[in-house]
Amino acid sequence: MVLADLTREALKPETNPYHMALAQFYAVADRLRLDPGTQAILAHPKRELIVHFPVRMDDGSVRVFTGYRIQHNLARGPAKGGIRYHPEVTLDEVRALAMWMTWKCAIVNIPYGGAKGGVACDPKELSLAELERLTRRFTTEISIIIGPEKDIPAPDVNTDARVMGWIMDTYSMQVGYSVPGVVTGKPLATGGTAGRAEATGRGCMLMAREATRRLGLPLAGATVAVQGFGNVGSIAAHLLAEQGCKVVAVSDSEGGVYRREGLDIPALLRHRARHRTVAAFLQGQPISNRELLELPVDILVPAALGGQITGENAHRIRAKIIVEGANGPTTPDADRILNAREVFIVPDVLANAGGVLVSYFEWVQDLQSFFWEEAEINERLERQLTRSFNDVMETARRDGVDTRTAALMVGVRRVVDAMEARGLYP
Ligand code: NAD
Repeated sequence: MVLADLTREALKPETNPYHMALAQFYAVADRLRLDPGTQAILAHPKRELIVHFPVRMDDGSVRVFTGYRIQHNLARGPAKGGIRYHPEVTLDEVRALAMWMTWKCAIVNIPYGGAKGGVACDPKELSLAELERLTRRFTTEISIIIGPEKDIPAPDVNTDARVMGWIMDTYSMQVGYSVPGVVTGKPLATGGTAGRAEATGRGCMLMAREATRRLGLPLAGATVAVQGFGNVGSIAAHLLAEQGCKVVAVSDSEGGVYRREGLDIPALLRHRARHRTVAAFLQGQPISNRELLELPVDILVPAALGGQITGENAHRIRAKIIVEGANGPTTPDADRILNAREVFIVPDVLANAGGVLVSYFEWVQDLQSFFWEEAEINERLERQLTRSFNDVMETARRDGVDTRTAALMVGVRRVVDAMEARGLYP
């Protein structure tokens, strides 16, 4: 596919995540009156690496996997973005996620460009040893473009601190010395930071708090439903429950659980640790992922995969506030329906930016070899994220636009400012 062929009329944003990211971008580019050249630059990822690489399986056979590392824009600094392991990873999904990372880093005003990576695989089918070999080989394949000053990966769906530790070790082995700053979300023992594992979920909690303040709703006692009970969703649920919210439903890829009086989140975390799913938790009734999205709650936190709230189900969403823990959970058709119904959306590029903010703090600590206390990390996270929330709300008010458009206007403007300040090479 030639990307330049992607005219606005040809976009299919309801079914293709990259088209969705482009549709969002073009809407904002028009408002910012960006010239056609700047629009064309930003509509294209700067650099795309596709790798097909072999991994020796435990039974002695060899399997070839396909992986991607895409750098969307580097105007504001080195590229930053997670690595996802999932059977449905595609080139266009990674392109979308990389573009959203560019805007996200600019919205929270950290000196990074945007990138994303992924491997099409089902980690549930891999042994730990196979997962390690896959990770080390993929790291080697993309090592030509990653590095602490070039592109710094982080965890995303189905990748965690252990995987980041393998990436750090593999890269370090190749250059011959330890390079903790090549990746963030690492274990503490290898230069990770306090607070990173909780950062994205903590950011969701903070954004839910700010949104309730805006709407004049008390956070304590607010009802919450969380789709996806992984790193982001489980921490968000836990921290919102600590704030006094009533988390009435959570779900994961195996199913969900609902309790009108509120779920016991610590008990649910213990259940997940034992059974690797929230499904079949006895202190509640089973609920499907679709039903969960349509519950009459104050706050809905989609924290699983993209494309969950669409033109098909948006009119049945009954939440007052949506805090997008996941990337790209709401399609443009759904946005139109939800905005018309005045649902308050904290868009992904703001709601889940706590993760990249604390990743930035981790990278800074690694470069300085000087580590901060967790309280300092959390305080900086809260300050910077709240400031970004206020920047976005001020733009929404001033320009009379919805919150996603406002957030993207803040982000795209900052990226364009950096491009203009640098000029067009040569
Ligand atoms: P994770 O792998 O830790 O958890 C994903 C969760 O979603 C799991 O509970 C999984 O069972 C569930 N899930 C998968 N498919 C589902 C489905 N069809 N219906 C319901 N649940 C389903 O991943 P994560 O790191 O928590 O990431 C979740 C989302 O948050 C992703 O969209 C990711 O891009 C985004 N995000 C993550 C981070 C981070 O720091 N990890 C940062 C920003 C954004």
